[in-house]
Amino acid sequence: MAARHPIERRHHARALYATGLGIASVARIMGLPRHTVWYWCVGNGRLDLEPHAAIPCPRCQNPPQAPPDPESYAYLLGLYLGDGHLTITAKTPVLRIACDDKYPGIMAEAEAAMLATLARKVQRVRSVGCTGIQSYAKHWPCLLPQAGPGKKHNRPIVLEPWQEEIVAAHPGRFLRGLFHSDGCRVVNRVHKGGRDYEYPRYFFSNKSPDIMRMCQVALNRLGVEWRMARPDSLSVARRTAVERLDRDVGPKDGQDVGPKDG
Ligand SMILES: [Zn+2]
Repeated sequence: MAARHPIERRHHARALYATGLGIASVARIMGLPRHTVWYWCVGNGRLDLEPHAAIPCPRCQNPPQAPPDPESYAYLLGLYLGDGHLTITAKTPVLRIACDDKYPGIMAEAEAAMLATLARKVQRVRSVGCTGIQSYAKHWPCLLPQAGPGKKHNRPIVLEPWQEEIVAAHPGRFLRGLFHSDGCRVVNRVHKGGRDYEYPRYFFSNKSPDIMRMCQVALNRLGVEWRMARPDSLSVARRTAVERLDRDVGPKDGQDVGPKDG
């Protein structure tokens, strides 16, 4: 697939994708198969364009900088706080996000977010029914300073001011990460009076009260109504609220969820 298209086509596709268009829309505009666009924009094809694109740690600059791609960072932070692990006891820290094999789109997005934030290389580690998307890098703890011993719900989780700023600027991307890792979108189908009705709703489950509060604050920022179904489980069920959240999150098996927040 690489040889048939000039490099400019790849850059054009990536530029369109960067504006917030979905894979399907970019494919339609450029008259290309979806899988080609996907490969170029979020799959390993993007590596061909930037073979030496190792990103220096933004936090170790003087003065410290924010990550270069705040939208990708907001998404990655959501994934990490939801169900990610950063192991700092190993010689080189390793960030790992476990993804259900049912959702290859989430795997690709997690991988792309790691590459956009710090990773030089991302590995896929297969196990039964799921794949760990993982990256070794000395500076992951600079970017995810919430790493620490023990489970996240047994210790306070507090964002640093520079992280707060990014989450406040991109609540939709942050929520997308949270719901992709620890959330779900379920659809109840009801047959009534000869007609079928669909009631989609979202759930987010997390045992850390700190992370739950971050989810609530981000939803408030988007104007999405929520309620607590249980102390560790939040639900979004009102139709207008679900429609609003669909613009940033959507079904986990869907690649296209419309424009990113901005
Ligand atoms: Zn660093």
